[in-house]
Amino acid sequence: MPFVLTTKGQVACPHGAVAPVSSLRGSAKYQIDSANVMCETNIGSVPFPCSAKPPCTAITKWIANQLKFKVDGSCILTDSSILMTNNGPGKVILAGQLKLSLSG
Ligand SMILES: [Zn+2]
Repeated sequence: MPFVLTTKGQVACPHGAVAPVSSLRGSAKYQIDSANVMCETNIGSVPFPCSAKPPCTAITKWIANQLKFKVDGSCILTDSSILMTNNGPGKVILAGQLKLSLSG
């Protein structure tokens, strides 16, 4: 079962550069281990240490890969969610917590 992604999680750009998602605020409504839960609407600048030209600098869209669990109408993200950077699809490396997983 996939674990819920929080602001303590890490993501990778399509070139494998790993960055924390802490620059995206998440939803303060729900927290796990003192970190905000991440939702589909949490997009914006992420400090990928990417050496591609042009470099990956932001998450422009999320594909949650689960539709059951929502915060304010926005799907909660997990470590199986897909992210789109300004250069293409990346992936979640680390959920940021190991307490809460989702099924279905
Ligand atoms: Zn990149």
